[in-house]
Amino acid sequence: MAFQFNGSLETFQHDTVTHHTKDNSYWFYEKSKESFPGQAFGLEIVDILYHTKTEFQDILVFKSKTFGNVLVLNGIIQCTEKDEFAYQELITHIPIMSHPSPRKVLVIGGGDCGVIRELIKHVEDKSVESITMVEIDDMVIKLSTEFLPQMAKYHNHPKVKLTIDDGFKFLRETREKFDVIITDSSDPEGPAQEFFQINYFKLLSNALNENGIVIMQSSENIWLDIKYLKELLLKASNVFPNVEYCQCYMPSYTSGQLGLIIATMNKTVDLTRPLRRFDSCKETSLFKYYNHEVHHSSFILPTWARQYLG
Ligand code: SAM
Repeated sequence: MAFQFNGSLETFQHDTVTHHTKDNSYWFYEKSKESFPGQAFGLEIVDILYHTKTEFQDILVFKSKTFGNVLVLNGIIQCTEKDEFAYQELITHIPIMSHPSPRKVLVIGGGDCGVIRELIKHVEDKSVESITMVEIDDMVIKLSTEFLPQMAKYHNHPKVKLTIDDGFKFLRETREKFDVIITDSSDPEGPAQEFFQINYFKLLSNALNENGIVIMQSSENIWLDIKYLKELLLKASNVFPNVEYCQCYMPSYTSGQLGLIIATMNKTVDLTRPLRRFDSCKETSLFKYYNHEVHHSSFILPTWARQYLG
């Protein structure tokens, strides 16, 4: 299905779009009075590719001058063609390479399908056997297929079982168990609210096989709201005895980085070191961001953040 935006950049009205008359340029600004007051991240817009409001969220896709096509949900950038691989690779390969045998994987959210693309590398390597993805809004998948084709290229791969549903509800009802669960959700404002609560960590732990590993984006990071981050880590630690925090460079996310929380019920495993690794030739051919050294270094925090987060 081809999606076409019936309008022009000049007449398009959206809270995130500002016209600068001085040089006749149009800019997208990500702002949040609650999460990051007094700062904004901006990208110059070349064209609006699509805009719609679904039952769940406001979806905007635009072509930027320097970051390629950009997917925005409720005013927050989800991914850009320029830097998406950093986040997609880390959230996927850190848990997969930390698990001895990650055969069954569940992805909650992930509508841009970038995590699926990364998981297929492990299907081809014969470690991952099945992938279930539970995304609440099929419009995100459709638009990603159209406008982010490199990310969404495996959305209908035969090893992927796609369910359009609320991830929280799915976890409450499922009897299946998984080796790795990746929560690739949007931020807590909107349909992903419940993912940032203790009950969600409980549901995750119930859906894990022995030695199972979960990972989720933490929404906040050490620069944006370290207090919130600490609270979220405490919620995770309420359920999981082994919890770690890592981060990656993400120029298109406000403050330039993204935080990830990884956890397991297995107290003895060191999640900060890969349990398995490819030789460097294969590593370089498969990944652009991840390698076994990046795996470990992503967990190393500056002194003040390490002390604050305990
Ligand atoms: N990389 C992104 C980030 O950190 O900002 C996340 C990208 S991904 C597109 C987020 C997806 O989570 C969206 O497609 C959204 O529809 C989905 N999502 C939000 N709430 C959900 C829920 N309750 N159940 C399943 N999927 C959900």
